[in-house]
Amino acid sequence: MKSTPNQLLDYRCRLGGPTSLGRSGVSQMYHLHVLESEGHKILQELFPQLKDKLLNEYDVREYSFKTDCRFMVNGFLLNQDLTEDFPLLGIDRFTLETAMRKELCLQYGNQIEWKCNSRAVQLIVDQSLNIIKGIKYRQKHHVDSSSIDLYGDFIIDCTGRNTSSVKWLKESFNLIVPTMQIHFGLGYVTFIGERFKTGDPSLDSKQIVACSFNSPDNNTGFATTPIREIKTMDENSLGTLSTLLVQCVNYEYPPNDSYENLLEWIKEKLGPECYSVFKSKKVCSPLVSYRRAIDDRKYVEQLGKKWPQNYVLLGDAMCTFNPGYAQGMTHACRQARELGKIFQENCHKLKDISHIFNRRASAISEECWLLSTTND
Ligand SMILES: Cc1cc2nc3c(=O)[nH]c(=O)nc-3n(C[C@H](O)[C@H](O)[C@H](O)COP(=O)(O)OP(=O)(O)OC[C@H]3O[C@@H](n4cnc5c(N)ncnc54)[C@H](O)[C@@H]3O)c2cc1C
Repeated sequence: MKSTPNQLLDYRCRLGGPTSLGRSGVSQMYHLHVLESEGHKILQELFPQLKDKLLNEYDVREYSFKTDCRFMVNGFLLNQDLTEDFPLLGIDRFTLETAMRKELCLQYGNQIEWKCNSRAVQLIVDQSLNIIKGIKYRQKHHVDSSSIDLYGDFIIDCTGRNTSSVKWLKESFNLIVPTMQIHFGLGYVTFIGERFKTGDPSLDSKQIVACSFNSPDNNTGFATTPIREIKTMDENSLGTLSTLLVQCVNYEYPPNDSYENLLEWIKEKLGPECYSVFKSKKVCSPLVSYRRAIDDRKYVEQLGKKWPQNYVLLGDAMCTFNPGYAQGMTHACRQARELGKIFQENCHKLKDISHIFNRRASAISEECWLLSTTND
């Protein structure tokens, strides 16, 4: 967290392991992410200084969805007839996460104890009372050392899409959590690049260019969004570093073995507009691939009072979605806000909170689930 904005960018471009920054992170953090307005609003409420810091310290800029963006959906230019504009902040997830952690420490530093590079490995439970009393964790650098116990009044599993909760609850309570999964053959390849003029003004005047997939007719898409302004003397440069993404569903995977092969794939699958944007890029990082995403929902609310007290799943741990619809982070933010609200209502017994949260959080998951899965 002491890294300067330039060191962070350097880390991002070299795919430096976040472990050396004191945390494990998640493998998708190198990929292009879009945060919905509601998620952005929640972050602004929690961290009122964050936006100004990003703009002033990280060379981040705000863009207009109406004028700085070219967003094609199934052959239609989506953003040309907007009655209302959307501001877009151009930043990468890696930098945003670190900046947010810094803000969290500034606000609550003396109330938080970080257990860095550690892994929760088991629950500590009282079966007869149906409560989770704590967790056992291990430090990653000392895999052979024995686990350490950590007790809590209320425990939130926010360990993301690979949560072990389903396994742990089965082991500890013989509880079977109803789940549903949909596999849709998602593939992402993302890298950082400097954009140069293509000679086509309709592309060169737009910092954000995107074309979404529309399965089953069209299973591939692409997007580029700026993450930093840069100083350059080259008049052909657009003056920004950007994240570039190509994506697919239905297993039409883009290659990441070489940039030449990726360009060939783009030419064949995505057409001249995307090809010309990608061909005019200077590549500034390795090509990172991701192929494991699925829709994966845990119907915790169906278990009613069988669900243990003092324990909830939140965010991806409860439900993951097709990343192509960019809902996951906002879903996690909304569930976190709801949990905060339940505590602030100040009228619930601690033992009831997990059941109340499960009902309300699953309603949030349901909205996002419908959007993702009707198409998938
Ligand atoms: C390729 C890809 C692209 C995506 N694009 C978008 C997008 O455009 N917009 C969007 O909103 N969402 C997107 N998502 C989804 C988004 O990344 C997630 O929804 C979001 O990160 C969920 O946040 P979370 O806090 O629930 O979990 P995570 O962000 O996954 O965080 C989990 C944390 O728990 C830690 N952890 C894991 N296991 C343990 C353990 N046993 N002990 C201790 N710590 C542990 C991890 O290291 C990590 O820090 C994308 C996902 C993928 C895979």
